[in-house]
Amino acid sequence: MKIGILGAGQLARMIALAGYPLGLEFVFLDPSADACANPLGEHLHGDYSDPRLLAELAARADVVTYEFENVPADVAEFLASHTQVHPAPKALAVAQDRLVEKAYFRDLGIPTAPYTSVDNLKSLEQAISGIGFPAILKSCTMGYDGKGQSLVRSTEDLAPAWEQLAGAPGVLEGFVPFNREVSIVAARSVSGAIVFYPLSENVHRGGILRIATCREDDPMQQQAEAYVSRLMNELNYVGILALELFEVDGELVANEFAPRVHNSGHWTIEGAETSQFENHLRAILDLPLGSSSAVGKAAMVNFIGNVPTTEEILTIPNVHVHLYDKSPRKGRKVAHATVRAETTEQLDSLVKQLAALADQVDDS
Ligand code: AMP
Repeated sequence: MKIGILGAGQLARMIALAGYPLGLEFVFLDPSADACANPLGEHLHGDYSDPRLLAELAARADVVTYEFENVPADVAEFLASHTQVHPAPKALAVAQDRLVEKAYFRDLGIPTAPYTSVDNLKSLEQAISGIGFPAILKSCTMGYDGKGQSLVRSTEDLAPAWEQLAGAPGVLEGFVPFNREVSIVAARSVSGAIVFYPLSENVHRGGILRIATCREDDPMQQQAEAYVSRLMNELNYVGILALELFEVDGELVANEFAPRVHNSGHWTIEGAETSQFENHLRAILDLPLGSSSAVGKAAMVNFIGNVPTTEEILTIPNVHVHLYDKSPRKGRKVAHATVRAETTEQLDSLVKQLAALADQVDDS
């Protein structure tokens, strides 16, 4: 079996690494000649929307999946008309536009922050009178890791925030005074079987995920499972999906979902019976899904911009390093490491050591 992946970054790389023991082969389409997954399979080098390359990908692969959600709709449709594509283009379309996504959540009874669409400075001024300060202005499309968004605290912030969108349609969201951020990663197979991972508790800085901790037996687990299964069943979703949520005093509020394997699920490689990457492959191939149970206590720390030497990281006990083989660049995720422990106290201490190392080289 050969799996085609749009994109050959670290997510594609970790999917391929999980697929080798299952006897799977991989073909990647990526515009970068030195994309980090390339050594793990065949590489079609060129633009995502090149029809010749897309046809080639569809011809070589038994199933196509992707590692990023901003796949143009016509590209996903083209592939789906030539081969099996999971998740289906519909999930991409919903996830790509924050307004469509929020309306989808609302229709499914999944709470969101209050929001209004914004097309110009005047409509932003009107929107803020309903939503109030503080609020966050986000571009409807192409936003990730906090890009394309501004916090507005007062009237003076409105014009600069609007300018930052550079004319793109926006959505104004009320600022959610969350106690913490969590995400639920789940897999749904072609046959409709679903497994849920334990909640991940996530710490962001500058809009970028820094630390994700597996929270087994979290009091919000059931509510999160109810929301994500509603979403996956409605979309007839196949593959891994991550739903990002805010917890506000015992209630969950949806922020967004990612129709792909997700950074907040990287701890599952060592911290769960079956990793999110393996379960993504099992789901799209309609194989039985693996157990998503936690194995001990686990947490992951991202290395942003730079990574310390492997020797330095390996001085921390029970650590597992994942270098992405990407050249260092400001704000770029270049590696992550996962620590495992038997008690929460031990885990917290290991995470502190790891986060301190990450902060030393962090240039964001
Ligand atoms: P996003 O690009 O929507 O994932 O946002 C990146 C990060 O910005 C989130 O993980 C939160 O830390 C923060 N954020 C986004 N939207 C809101 C909101 N409505 N209220 C409070 N914080 C937010």
